[in-house]
Amino acid sequence: MFDKILIANRGEIALRVVRACREMGIASVAVHSTADADAMHVRMADETICIGPASSTDSYLSFPAIISACEVTGAQAIHPGYGFLSENARFVQIVEDHGLTFIGPRAEHIRIMGDKITAKDTMKELGVPCVPGSEGGVPDLETARKIGEEIGYPVIIKATAGGGGRGMKVANSAAEMERAFQTARSEGKAAFGNDEVYIEKYLTTPRHIEIQVFGDGKGQAVHLGERDCSLQRRHQKVLEEAPGPIISEEERARIGKVCADAVAKINYAGAGTIEFLYENGEFYFIEMNTRLQVEHPVTEAIFGVDLVREQIRVAAGMPLSFGQDDLTINGHAIEARINAEKLPNFAPSPGKITQYHAPGGLGVRMDSALYQGYKIPPYYDSLIGKLIVHGRDRAEALARLDRALGELIVDGVDSTIPLFRMLLENEDVRSGDYNIHWLEHWLEATFGDK
Ligand code: ADP
Repeated sequence: MFDKILIANRGEIALRVVRACREMGIASVAVHSTADADAMHVRMADETICIGPASSTDSYLSFPAIISACEVTGAQAIHPGYGFLSENARFVQIVEDHGLTFIGPRAEHIRIMGDKITAKDTMKELGVPCVPGSEGGVPDLETARKIGEEIGYPVIIKATAGGGGRGMKVANSAAEMERAFQTARSEGKAAFGNDEVYIEKYLTTPRHIEIQVFGDGKGQAVHLGERDCSLQRRHQKVLEEAPGPIISEEERARIGKVCADAVAKINYAGAGTIEFLYENGEFYFIEMNTRLQVEHPVTEAIFGVDLVREQIRVAAGMPLSFGQDDLTINGHAIEARINAEKLPNFAPSPGKITQYHAPGGLGVRMDSALYQGYKIPPYYDSLIGKLIVHGRDRAEALARLDRALGELIVDGVDSTIPLFRMLLENEDVRSGDYNIHWLEHWLEATFGDK
């Protein structure tokens, strides 16, 4: 096992990893930019090191800064958290070239899943159901039109290098194809330096269901059921729950096994999430994330496992600490992502926290790096906390979320707390009757064009 782990991240996820390290008796090193000198993850880690200025390009994303920080502190492994360098295959390669361990999958798997066409081809070969669409890349508009006719409109044109909701355009009819095709291409080129695109059938009312998988890197893998993350705004998840309100035990066992078998076959190591759209009882693969997800705590709650601890164990070459038969679901969990954003436009709201009080009590977990007097810097994403509740069933989890939100105090900046209180009063949310477009429609109906 490692003696010391460096965490190449910030905020609540860096704190999350510090906590796992401490429980495992492993020393933790926090890195930080000059803007984060007073951050909670820096206060809580065993050692800290400043790796550059506020701009993440020169700090949290800087290979030399992070590798030197390992050398200076004697850390043997790097936990990347999510975002930043967590899905950067080149970084993984460099980490390994320096004799360090990356806590995550091998570079090769990150590379395969980072290119959406290759990812889809690989998954199809491994028996994972995919959205109908083009075979690989679509070279020109003429071919795009032909495919549009074949699979039928609406279709979605996606940049193979795309991510974070960028490089995707919907064409509702043949007339919209030219514009959508060119825009997806130019967005792919501008944002990711790659203008290759592919085409998929656009599903009109799907849910977003993702399967948590875990591999030991040696051909063994398990699944930890699904999370329903359909409540999204601009392709960003807002509220997540596990298990999915409309997924049956048989469906879970079936798709879970398909996913676990797929990652076992490629000797995948560590945590991964296979994302699907789900419509009319069918699962359609869209992408795989080769890292820990923001929403992993809902899975931890219902299975009673520590996924970060498991990531560290697997990276150290240890076997999985649970087999498929050890994994049974207990109750229901919901996560509300609290962002420092002002409703109704979700404009970032950085600034000083004048008062902070975290909720508590049975089944309540608050993963946050906030404290009273903390100044949220304007340079990074706006997630300031995740409130995760666990109940015996969905109704209890909903009631607990409402109760916990009532206790939560974040003063000094605007936050998305009021959004969740409103959502909890909505009948569709209460009954779990929503798809990936529901939230956008509700926001439009509730706040209009403000
Ligand atoms: P990114 O990597 O940018 O997050 P994804 O491929 O994961 O892109 O898709 C993000 C979101 O876009 C999905 O959660 C879904 O809301 C929507 N989406 C993607 N593909 C389709 C599709 N074929 N039909 C309908 N919606 C889609």
